[in-house]
Amino acid sequence: MSEKYSGVKFNVNYVGKNIPQFNKNKELKQWYKVFRNKNLAPVINGQAGGNLSYRINEQEKPFVITGSQISLDTNLDNTMLVKVLDCYFDKKIIDVEGTRNPSSESFLHHAIYQKRPDINAIFHGHSTSILDNYKKENIICTKKEVPYGSIKLVNSVLEILDSKINFLIIKNHGFIALATNMQKAGKLSVEILLKFS
Ligand SMILES: [Zn+2]
Repeated sequence: MSEKYSGVKFNVNYVGKNIPQFNKNKELKQWYKVFRNKNLAPVINGQAGGNLSYRINEQEKPFVITGSQISLDTNLDNTMLVKVLDCYFDKKIIDVEGTRNPSSESFLHHAIYQKRPDINAIFHGHSTSILDNYKKENIICTKKEVPYGSIKLVNSVLEILDSKINFLIIKNHGFIALATNMQKAGKLSVEILLKFS
């Protein structure tokens, strides 16, 4: 990866301090563990190279996402999760509930949920094994490398994302699995990884 992690590139507006306490958190945490154990989200500078989210209610905007700068050494607890209510691209502001910054890639998750009402889970990881081998499976990839956490990156994904894609590569960065639920997004990530190991 040519670019170092550079943290959150937007302003976080804490609408509330409530920590997300949804039943689905449990499933998210389980998949996070899988991502860690299988190296789907390798640790870079002590931080998880990836982020996972789920839409709280089908068709609605709010989603729960892993927080920014999480160390993979510890198990996730609810305080490390953040509820995202809305994202404002023009002002670079994100409305959240929780006690920590949401993942620096929250805008990307938001944009995908907005473009794809059928999607309720987005799992993203920086797996080197998938990045090195994706061409063998003809997996679609964004056209050029753009900076982390940027609007350019969001647009590069939206540009190739159509109604059928459920797995894609962000050039020189990582993969995104998107599905109607977490089970499917997680299984798909693992399946693709296994093709290359
Ligand atoms: Zn990423």
